[in-house]
Amino acid sequence: MTTETFDVGILRAQFPILDRTLHGYPMAYLDSAATAQKPRRVIEATRAFYETSNANINRGAYKLCQEATEAYEGARATVAAHLNAAHPNEIVFVRGTTEAMNLLAHSLGQGLGPGDEILLTHMEHHANIVPWQLVAERIGVTIRVVPVTEDGRLNLEAYRNMLGPRTRIVSVTHVSNALGTVNPVCEIARDARSAGAIVVVDGAQAAPHLKVDVQALGADFYAFSGHKTYGPTGIGAFYGQRALLEELPPYQSGGDMIARVSFEKTTFKAAPQRFEAGTPNIAGAVGLGEALRFLAETGMDAISAHECELAELARKKLAVVPGVRFYGTAPERAGIVSFTVQGVHPHDLATILDRRGVAIRAGHHCCQPLWERFGIPATARASFGLYNTHQEVEALVEGVSYARELFT
Ligand code: PMP
Repeated sequence: MTTETFDVGILRAQFPILDRTLHGYPMAYLDSAATAQKPRRVIEATRAFYETSNANINRGAYKLCQEATEAYEGARATVAAHLNAAHPNEIVFVRGTTEAMNLLAHSLGQGLGPGDEILLTHMEHHANIVPWQLVAERIGVTIRVVPVTEDGRLNLEAYRNMLGPRTRIVSVTHVSNALGTVNPVCEIARDARSAGAIVVVDGAQAAPHLKVDVQALGADFYAFSGHKTYGPTGIGAFYGQRALLEELPPYQSGGDMIARVSFEKTTFKAAPQRFEAGTPNIAGAVGLGEALRFLAETGMDAISAHECELAELARKKLAVVPGVRFYGTAPERAGIVSFTVQGVHPHDLATILDRRGVAIRAGHHCCQPLWERFGIPATARASFGLYNTHQEVEALVEGVSYARELFT
């Protein structure tokens, strides 16, 4: 599907949940940054796997086992295509971005020593802060934080000045879930590499909304969650550049990740199996593969254009409501609108909108350090997916105006 043929009506019809109502109103689901709804074909692919091909992978000689293994490995190839990885073996299945970041912090952390530095940014999700913090405390590594400008961009000059011979890892979000800012990962990665640092990218908010090319970006590691890319919960993946992945020590251990076990010495399989201990979420991987095929057929560029158009429409209309203030006004933005309304607490706003069928999120969006930097505890956030419509933007704006009038 191209921008010309992008038909939101046809797309919506593929999502059974979008037919439901909330409190008697048609549901306007504006929380896809938290989790995306699932098209019927993803639900069916998962069910069909259980109904026709369920077996444990890798371990059996019988046909069902081979079918299950093929389905799982096929999904790996689809993830590789979605990220434009050079080879499916550069893709590791995990539970989601959070698990990927814990794995990377743990395993990359083993190569760090006291005095080394990890660079994060002020706009990171807690999932890209806390795992590094735990490693840093254990090893004596210093975490340094790239500042964010008033309009919600990374201060790249400060970043360049912070890079140095002690910088070992730069871990940055591609798209901020709180501000919507799209970070210049290509530039960030280039500078990090020339300082000799490894580049980790949190792609949780980019993989569902932008065309991602890990090779063009120059990322060493790139993580995302299946449930935000219209796939099932409990499955996600990360890309690891082959040579680095081969060197990386394991995270969890047990069955399936070993070459040979004895009580004296255990040897491990090559990547990606070395990082997939135990029985994985096979049906989840199959569902994720289906979701990514759905995205490819719909067209990532068309999806991006649609979501950005809705976000810009929402900003334009909300800007007219007295007391609305936006957070994240940088030119490069995705389909996320974070805002406050003077005199209305974000949680009250979300409750009032819910009563009118509009589902948005209010809170710190797992970015407490960012809001501390802006001096506020919370915002309201509307986030758009490929199935959202102009009417849903209208419902949002009407609800916000109503709430503002109620409180003033
Ligand atoms: N990073 C970002 C930027 C996110 O938006 C999220 C989800 N809100 C995560 C990481 C964590 O993803 P998950 O909960 O799926 O592991």
